[in-house]
Amino acid sequence: MFLRKITGIFYFFLSLLLSVNVLNAKDPIKALIVTGQNNHNWKASSVILQKYLNESGIFVADMAVSPEKGGDMSSFRPDFSAYKVVVLDYNGDSWPEDTNRAFLEYVKNGGGVVVYHAADNAFRKWKEYNEIIGLGGWEGRNETDGPYVYYVDGKEVRDTSPGHGGSHGKQHEYKIALRVKKHPVTKGLPAIWTHSKDELYDRLRGPAKNLTVLATAYSDKATGGTGRDEPVLMTINWGKGRIFHTVLGHVGGESTHPAVEGASFIVTFLRGAEWAATGKVTQKVPDDFPEK
Ligand code: ZN
Repeated sequence: MFLRKITGIFYFFLSLLLSVNVLNAKDPIKALIVTGQNNHNWKASSVILQKYLNESGIFVADMAVSPEKGGDMSSFRPDFSAYKVVVLDYNGDSWPEDTNRAFLEYVKNGGGVVVYHAADNAFRKWKEYNEIIGLGGWEGRNETDGPYVYYVDGKEVRDTSPGHGGSHGKQHEYKIALRVKKHPVTKGLPAIWTHSKDELYDRLRGPAKNLTVLATAYSDKATGGTGRDEPVLMTINWGKGRIFHTVLGHVGGESTHPAVEGASFIVTFLRGAEWAATGKVTQKVPDDFPEK
């Protein structure tokens, strides 16, 4: 009788433990895509990003859509603090001061951020935003915004020479090379792989504090580039927050969007988002990930 009681209690606690684990496994990571203004086709890109996040089985993604360019931004107040990761697909009018403050508070307290493509064009004059993105381009950026960061002969260069920040040659397929192989985002990825047709940002410059370049791509002068290995995947730490910055994923007005449709973009985006949210990556690199 006593033994049965003990066994019963044991199984009760075992089932409790299992149910907690099952709950944890099913507890999705809350993600918020911030969009609504961009010099890109945000109506397409934001839906594509949301689909990838939701279909991954580990995220559930909401959307915060700002008023249109020139509209009244005063009511644009996403509740960043309700999320583990904020995906920035926004390049437009300034947010209200309260929203800026709430965003910085969110990152400072450990909130994750994914800086996606032209989000690194935004808010040139917002100092902390530029620290969070690490590197940016366009909007008149120049040597006063920070150094260029690129690789030459396998070594990272921080170049303070004068000149404009942000450019790209014509869209093409290109190789991406890992610079850090043991980071949770990159672990298990091939040393070099082929990325689908996309823009390749170059001449990015910014504060570049607490910035790690995870991967670069050679920006060939033949396609209008710099002749340097330019950063394409980066991490930045700001406060307690983790930031994953991908320059990949141009989405324009065309009916197809090859830059975001291949495994190269999808896998690195989802791994970066999970790391930004939790500091870990539980996803396996799929067998069909492109090799060189
Ligand atoms: Zn673009």
